[in-house]
Order: sequence, then structure tokens, then C-alpha cells
Amino acid sequence: MVKIARVTILGSTGSIGQNTLDVIARHPDRFAVYALSAFSRIDLLAQQAWACGAAVVVVPTDVAATLFRKLWVHAQPCPEIRVGTQALAETAAGPDCQIVMAAIVGAAGLPAALAAASAGKRVLLANKEALVAAGSLFMAAVREHGAELLPIDSEHNAIFQCLPHDGRASAPSGPTPGVRRLILTASGGPFRTRQWGDLHDVTPEQACAHPNWSMGRKISVDSATMLNKGLEVIEAHWLFAMPADRISVVIHPQSVVHSMVEYEDGSVLAQLGQPDMRTPIAYGLGFPDRIASGVGLLDLALAGRLDFSAPDMEQFPCLRLSFQALNAGQGACIALNAANEIAVAAFLERRLSYTNIACMIEATLDWQTGLPSAAFNCLDDVLALDQMARDHAASSRLISQSS
Ligand code: NAD
Ligand code: MG
Repeated sequence: MVKIARVTILGSTGSIGQNTLDVIARHPDRFAVYALSAFSRIDLLAQQAWACGAAVVVVPTDVAATLFRKLWVHAQPCPEIRVGTQALAETAAGPDCQIVMAAIVGAAGLPAALAAASAGKRVLLANKEALVAAGSLFMAAVREHGAELLPIDSEHNAIFQCLPHDGRASAPSGPTPGVRRLILTASGGPFRTRQWGDLHDVTPEQACAHPNWSMGRKISVDSATMLNKGLEVIEAHWLFAMPADRISVVIHPQSVVHSMVEYEDGSVLAQLGQPDMRTPIAYGLGFPDRIASGVGLLDLALAGRLDFSAPDMEQFPCLRLSFQALNAGQGACIALNAANEIAVAAFLERRLSYTNIACMIEATLDWQTGLPSAAFNCLDDVLALDQMARDHAASSRLISQSS
């Protein structure tokens, strides 16, 4: 008999959050939802809480709490409503759940994800920005508190599946012996075949139209610029304790091979599947067991061919800037991520052109280089530079003040 595990979903109304609820609903004998959180779409949160019987919901403001109460028209008692970022971290760390899905978008998800790791939970990490901004702190918390860290990003989940492990998802203290290189695949996004210089006028709708994956808007834009792949290189560096020069990226437009591990003997292990996030989510929830995800089978004969090519750093300057930040250190990674969040939000509001996303990131990295060197020993150190970098990026003349 498998004991029922209670799950908290940070960011349940997002793309990953909804897919997580879908997988959990397939396994009532294994999982129950303890808490859900959302920043907006409180109506969807209420609907989710009712459908899965969540005991707790966490919302950002008192106004959202009042709205949730108003929307609760069901006979069953209203879940306990908690408010604010502190409550979110406390819920993630509290004793009533064993598994935390970290699926908030952006560095805003860092405090609660870190709290879950520091409480020794099984953390399913979709929120890559948390690792980009605070990799060493986060991995130290996983190690010190005996947390289990399951990567949900499809590439890292694939790599995790291709590495040897003993049934526990503990943080490695160095590169896995025998591994030569990690190879992250990238679809190349909607503008794979176009030149960067021709993309000045692309719209948010065009940038968000990903050819293979259905995702939230921020990560969709990141996938188009390939900053997403850059964040994933930094994420892989921390998750698998691999130096930057042993992580490479290959363009693979079909998104069937989710990533690969190259071994010293010349073997390359890959994980393949449909581009559907329920596979990595089910893997993280069930690990070390394999459980049903609802994802259809992969028909390779139907796929016909799989293509691979090297990425062009001129065509994808955001990827080049990400490697630059990883080589420069933690402060540069914090600045890279913060500038990108500001730039993408402005682009989605039509206040910044697409190609200026890379210009803003580059300018913020230049600004960060001029700062005195600093240590990032605690969350406050990370959040302080994150805020400074956001302020710096937001004051850029590249952003128009009217939409
Ligand atoms: P999304 O935009 O669809 O959902 C984000 C969720 O976070 C929502 O529930 C939203 O209410 C919440 N949220 C947003 N801002 C918040 C804030 N300031 N404080 C608290 N909560 C906030 O995003 P998504 O596509 O589900 O992605 C979530 C994370 O997973 C991102 O870090 C993304 O990079 C990563 N990821 C997503 C996919 C995917 O297929 N969608 C794949 C790999 C990794
Ligand atoms: Mg990914």
C-alpha cells in the first residue's frame, strides 16, 4: 500500500500548475492536494480548490481573499485562505504537505521554493528562475536539509532520467563520474529560421506562438529569444554540478528528444517523448515509480525524422549573454534574470521592441560588472541585487513609458 502524499502547488493556475492537477487527479490513491496558490485568476483558483478539495489557498492580497470568499458558492466548507508572500513560504514549509510543486514564474517564486527545500520536502522544481538567481543557496539548502529535488523542466528531467541514481533525488556534490557532457535540446522557437536583425517588429502574439509546447507567456517569449535555454544552461550547472564548458545546446526542432547525457565511453543516453509537461510532472510525483501521466505514446514512425543543428550565437544573442553571465558568476546571473523579467514584461505590454530585450539584458550585465563584488550568502543578499537590477533595467530609455 502506497501512503497518500499531500501536495502543495505554488502557482496552481499556471500552465505547470494545471498540468500538475491533471496528473494528481489520475492518482487519488497516491496523492491529495493540500494547498494551492495563485497571484491572479482567483476565479480559476476557486474552481481548482473546489475540484481537488484543497484545504488551504494562498492569495497575494486581502482584496483577492475577499474575492475568493465571494466566489465560494459550494456546500463544502471554504478552504482556509492565507494572504501574502510570508504565508506562501510558511505553507510550502509547513508540516501538512510532503511534496511541493514550485511552479510560480520568475524570481518571485524563489522564497517559497527555498522555504520548501529548507524544510526538507520533496521539491518538484519548475521555477528555473529560482535556481538561476540563487543556485548555490538553493542547492546548499537541499543538501543541508535532506530535501529531494526533482527537476520538472523537461530538459533537466530528461537528464535526470539519463543519469544513474539510487532511488533518492539528492543534490550531487560534483559531476557524476563517467559523464563527459550534458546536451540540452532546444526547439529554436517560432523564429528559428529567421535572422535576429529582422525581428525588430515581431508582436507578443507571434513570440508566444511556440511551435511545439503550450506554456505561460513569459516562458514562451523566453523560448523565442532562447534566453530560456540560457536559463536552462545555468539551471543544469547547479542541478548537476557541471561546469559551463561541459554543458552544450543543440537545436532540435521536433522537441522529441528532451535532452541527453554523453558519457566517457562515447555512449549518449537520451530521453524521448511527446512534448507534454505531464510526463516530467508524473516522473517527479511518482519517483522512483513510473506512474500514468495521460500523455499519449510516442510514434517514431509517425515523427519520421529528427533533426539536430548547432545554435548560432549571432542569431540568438540571449543565449550568448547567458553563457557570459554563468561564466561571470552569481551576481551576473541575478542581473541577467532580473533584466529579462523586466524586458519581457515590457515587451508583452508593447513598451519594448523584441530585439531590445537582448539590448536591455546586455546593458544590465554591463552595469552589474561595475558593481563591487559581493557574496550571496542568504536570500536577502540575492533579493537586494535582484531589486537593484530590476530598478536599473526598468529605468532604461529603451522602454517607452506609454503603451
Ligand atoms: P504561468 O504564467 O502559466 O503561471 C505562473 C503561475 O505563477 C500562476 O499560477 C501565477 O498566478 C503565479 N504567479 C505569477 N506571478 C506571481 C507572483 N509574483 N507571486 C506569486 N505567484 C505568482 O507560468 P508557467 O508556464 O506555468 O511556468 C511556471 C514556471 O515553470 C516558470 O518558471 C517556467 O519557466 C517553468 N517551466 C514551465 C514550463 C511550461 O511548459 N509551462 C516548462 C518548463 C519550465
Ligand atoms: Mg525547458
